[in-house]
Amino acid sequence: MRSDCKVVWDRCLQFIQEQISEQSFKTWFKPIVPKQLENNTLTIQVPSQFFYEWLEEHYLALLQQVIHRELGPQGKLEYSIIVDKGTKRQQPFTIKLPLHPSPYATQQAPPDLRSPFALKEVGSAYKTALLNPNYTFDSFIEGDCNQLARSAAQAIAQKPGGTAFNPFMVYGGVGLGKTHVVQALGNAIKANFTDKFVLYVSSEQFTTQFIEAVRNNRLQDFSHFYLQADLLILDDVQFLAGKDKTQEIFFHIFNHLHQAGKQIVMTSDCPPRELKGLQERLLSRFKWGLTADLQQPDFETRVAIIHSKMEADGIDIEEELVQYVAHSVETNIRELEGVLISLIAHASLNKEKINLELAKQVLKNIVQEIDIEVSMDYIQKTVAGHFNVSVESLKSKSRKRELVTARQVAMYFIKKYTSHSLKSIGQYFGGRDHSTVSHALQAIDDLLDTEPHFKRSFEDLQRKVKFKMPL
Ligand code: ADP
Ligand code: MG
Repeated sequence: MRSDCKVVWDRCLQFIQEQISEQSFKTWFKPIVPKQLENNTLTIQVPSQFFYEWLEEHYLALLQQVIHRELGPQGKLEYSIIVDKGTKRQQPFTIKLPLHPSPYATQQAPPDLRSPFALKEVGSAYKTALLNPNYTFDSFIEGDCNQLARSAAQAIAQKPGGTAFNPFMVYGGVGLGKTHVVQALGNAIKANFTDKFVLYVSSEQFTTQFIEAVRNNRLQDFSHFYLQADLLILDDVQFLAGKDKTQEIFFHIFNHLHQAGKQIVMTSDCPPRELKGLQERLLSRFKWGLTADLQQPDFETRVAIIHSKMEADGIDIEEELVQYVAHSVETNIRELEGVLISLIAHASLNKEKINLELAKQVLKNIVQEIDIEVSMDYIQKTVAGHFNVSVESLKSKSRKRELVTARQVAMYFIKKYTSHSLKSIGQYFGGRDHSTVSHALQAIDDLLDTEPHFKRSFEDLQRKVKFKMPL
């Protein structure tokens, strides 16, 4: 058997070698170990999850081709992934080809989990399929940007349903850690209270399941299933917008669970008051408990996140480089992770060390090279130019009307497009304090609401600013 699979894999390698560059072949195919050949399924072992993802993304078609060539149309490929992070050993797991797509590429539940309410009992398979075990509080780096959300989640993890934070609503932009923090809460409750049923569901899945239940006349099963939860996490509720029937059933589930003292947790990409297309009675309930936001991480937090991710992958990079990446990617953590993965991939592909030169190259394709101080200056200059005033006057004490507006607009953009705190923005405008900046943001919001003329010219300027900025 063992030799069989080796023979087959060697033939695959020969074919692959002819199709791709020597370098890529060495990097991505040499380290693969053939493990087993059974029922037309070849199992190969790859050294890491990243490795597997890379293969999936770049060589899927080639692998499919070669497997079909060697094993016929029924041929399948399975990966066994060994992730060895020092002491932490992750279970190897297998992915079948061509039963694509990979579990990373999609949040879709496997077929039998599409109607979990139809299962005779809520099997352990379902319970464990719901949460990503890597999303823990330990791996969730703390910063000013997530202080409230994180500590509230930790408090709830100690006493689900027993705090004033019920429901608990986390909101924030894309890639800022909403799913991570609520799943960390779920994982913690599972660890603290083994008998509690933690139910995590994306609003999209919830909607699909609901539709499936209606179609099969199983609404009662559907409700019954959700009413068993001790902790119900509904991710991305903004997705329920305009789906009145789904909202209705969620409203009932919500009421029942809440009355029974069960914990409800939700996430959303905007604050509840801005959730359009959600029924008022639902929105008013969201406000019963605690609403906490996730902000863009500041520089120090980004540095800490990079350290933690690199450590988890067992990769060592210089401090200078960490800072460079943290300066360059300001928007969100998912993007930050993307940059890190590109860096690792480039380095591993070209057998280079990850150094500043490489980082600059990689980042050039992803974000514009621009320093954080430069962006503050850049905004001041651009806004000053637009309003026909000088940068010095923006920093001066003068309270001339057109100057005040220009200054407020500049503060607004800096807050929006950089990760400077209110305090540091104030300092940059002639040593004003943070409440002045906070007042400026409000003033601009008001102007945008009430002055269409101002709004148009503001939007013109915004395009200019955005264009130059690493968004
Ligand atoms: P959202 O649900 O808000 O779009 P996610 O929770 O999916 O964002 O987070 C995006 C990525 O960033 C995930 O890989 C997550 O682990 C990571 N991440 C977010 N916040 C943090 C944090 N504070 N510390 C470490 N990793 C984080
Ligand atoms: Mg999410």
